[in-house]
Amino acid sequence: MGPVLKVLGRVGVVVLGLAIVAVWLVLRLKGVPVPVLVTYGLVLTGLGCGLLWPRALGGRARRRTPAFFGVAAGLGTLGLYLAVVYHVTDLPVLLALAAGACLAGAVVAVLRGRRSADGRPARQARRAFLMGGAGLVLGTASGLSGGLVDRQRRASMARGERERQAAVRAPGARRRITDGAVRVFPIHTGDTIVTYGQFYGGLDGWEGLNGYVRTLVDKAQIAVPVHAYLIDHPRHGLMLVDTGVNWEQAHDHDGYYGLTSRLLTERDEYRMTAGQDLRVRLARLGYAAEEITTVFLTHVHDDHAGGLRYLPRATVVLDRRDWEHGVLYPHSFGLVKENLSFPAFDSGAFGPFPGSQDHFGDSSVILLPTPGHSPGHMCVLLRLDSGGVLFMGDTLYTLPHLATDQVRQMTIGGQDTVRQIEAARRVQRLLASDPGVVPLFAHDNTRYQFDLVASAFADGAPGEAGLRELRRGMESVLTSDWRLRPGHAPRFVAPASGTGLGKVAFG
Ligand SMILES: [Zn+2]
Repeated sequence: MGPVLKVLGRVGVVVLGLAIVAVWLVLRLKGVPVPVLVTYGLVLTGLGCGLLWPRALGGRARRRTPAFFGVAAGLGTLGLYLAVVYHVTDLPVLLALAAGACLAGAVVAVLRGRRSADGRPARQARRAFLMGGAGLVLGTASGLSGGLVDRQRRASMARGERERQAAVRAPGARRRITDGAVRVFPIHTGDTIVTYGQFYGGLDGWEGLNGYVRTLVDKAQIAVPVHAYLIDHPRHGLMLVDTGVNWEQAHDHDGYYGLTSRLLTERDEYRMTAGQDLRVRLARLGYAAEEITTVFLTHVHDDHAGGLRYLPRATVVLDRRDWEHGVLYPHSFGLVKENLSFPAFDSGAFGPFPGSQDHFGDSSVILLPTPGHSPGHMCVLLRLDSGGVLFMGDTLYTLPHLATDQVRQMTIGGQDTVRQIEAARRVQRLLASDPGVVPLFAHDNTRYQFDLVASAFADGAPGEAGLRELRRGMESVLTSDWRLRPGHAPRFVAPASGTGLGKVAFG
């Protein structure tokens, strides 16, 4: 037995060490102050020592110490959970767990009472009575708090609904233009808060697991836009490329995500005003979410799939590899699970792409596989009378990212990084071969998006002149061999106050 115990003890130390590191990372991500982190680390270390080497303590302490440290560590963890991760929707669950524990205690007391001799049964009966009573009270409180939590959430939803209605009615809304032209409208559905390195640090070590850990620990953060695109097509109706973030993700983040994703995401991951809600943006352009017939999802990540919950009638076109192997947040897909359509990519080669999908069979929309950022990422090429638009998804975050050898976003590492760079090169070749095609990005935070794309697509139809203007804008940033021109390299500018969001400067 001795050696086995020794091995188990060592495994225990490793597991404990990993647990401490994992908890530390989560707490760091949540911005918990360092003194609290240190205290918590000490409590957990104490637990480890007490459990693994109780002999060192001797006597009565030897028997009691493990229990003492266990309770201390348990209470410490609970306290930190309440302070850091807790959301009001957890209250009924916590109360139900406490009720369950009390009822289990009552059952144990009853069983013990039966087994023991004189004097003891009375004490055990009293204990069983108290614990059973506490269990019932806590159980009732759990049920009641469930109702209260529900009411509170409904009130907050109603408040949001009022804000959105006001935003729809605000001046400046437009009427739909129906002149038979294909129209494309950029839809800015709020911002996502990311670390600067995740966005621009791909060539500075932000890759794979290392990159992921750095996104947890690094606090050099910036806000970048999340864009979806609306297509009004005379033959194929209303379509979206990606759907952006939904209202609940931005305003009820903790309630929307389950405990595990809540542990690993930041509470203020998304920001959205009432005017940026997908439904509001569509209404102000003269459309309604119910009219959308097709959604092309470049990939399944949640800042692209959030709006799906407003589009229960749309056919959602996405690569099967993303559906089967991508990072899916079920909340966003609940309503559209029955409406999925997976392209076969059997329409033959398309320029530098060995496979493609001519979605409608008339060359109007071509789906191009660009795996790497996710297992089944795809780009979407839309043909306009005067040229075309290439929706990039997250293959490249911004226009400067087209200079793949100088600016790179965080990549997954290994073969996925290789695939993503390969996809980026294909995109470069496609853009080089057809000067009538312009790239549209999901997260471009440069002048290209906010000045040039916004004005070229102001009425949805850029025309030949508008597309030429955009290509000129692109060529003012990038050389023909995909290098950045001077003055366009990104750099992080820390916030003046020392904390909060930084900015990206180009120079
Ligand atoms: Zn994205």
